[in-house]
Amino acid sequence: MPHVVRCPICRAEVSWEGNPHRPFCSERCRLIDLGAWTEGKYRIPGKKLKRDQENESDEDKENSS
Ligand SMILES: [Zn+2]
Repeated sequence: MPHVVRCPICRAEVSWEGNPHRPFCSERCRLIDLGAWTEGKYRIPGKKLKRDQENESDEDKENSS
């Protein structure tokens, strides 16, 4: 019996053996998952930047590097 897994993106059944895109069914689904990660990462620096600007005068005082 071949080892079959479900693609986490489109839930399609794909064989584990000999599948270069596992656990995804194809490169497309792999890139969709990668894109979801990248989007989440982009939000964090954007939020941090806004906070840095708000605390700019406070950080000036503690600049001991
Ligand atoms: Zn898929």
